[in-house]
Amino acid sequence: MDKSLQTVLESSIRNIKDYPKEGITFRDISTLLGDPRAFRRSVDELVHPFAGLQIDKVAGIEARGFILGGAVAHQLSSGFVPIRKRGKLPHDTVRIAYSLEYGIDEMEMHRDAIEAGEKVVLIDDLIATGGTAEAAVKLLQQIGADVVAACFVIDLPDLGGRKKIEGLGVPVRTLIEFEGD
Ligand code: AMP
Repeated sequence: MDKSLQTVLESSIRNIKDYPKEGITFRDISTLLGDPRAFRRSVDELVHPFAGLQIDKVAGIEARGFILGGAVAHQLSSGFVPIRKRGKLPHDTVRIAYSLEYGIDEMEMHRDAIEAGEKVVLIDDLIATGGTAEAAVKLLQQIGADVVAACFVIDLPDLGGRKKIEGLGVPVRTLIEFEGD
């Protein structure tokens, strides 16, 4: 882990104790997005491994993954594909259910958003248990995407998300980590 990167990004993230419920520290990246240096550095670092490669699409997970993923797609001259909560996309969709702590949720993408064999990078702000990203990777793989990597600004390594995604054959890149969450 790059110490200076950890310092720059960590100091720009706001930590909110006991949100949305007791025992959880919410890592609020709205302050990172509002900090020109930290936002630019985050996008640059997410882009770096793929610069000069042919990435067809960047897929972002609603909602913070849209902000980071849109910027990354622009830098890579790739298309951008939104992965959204059920019921938000107007055209023909593919859908997957995934478990949350209480109950299940569903995410969707447009069926024609990606062609089989296209190279896709998945982006979200944070990986915790990996359940959200796992569903997104499965959805992308289901329509034939070649998911070349899943990238996150923040890793909560104690929650094991990275292994879950690597188990699907997808490399994981994260910029900073918060241990003990
Ligand atoms: P998970 O499916 O457990 O990997 O959770 C990842 C998703 O939930 C991401 O879209 C995050 O934005 C959000 N999330 C989970 N835990 C936190 C946290 N401690 N702080 C901020 N966002 C979180």
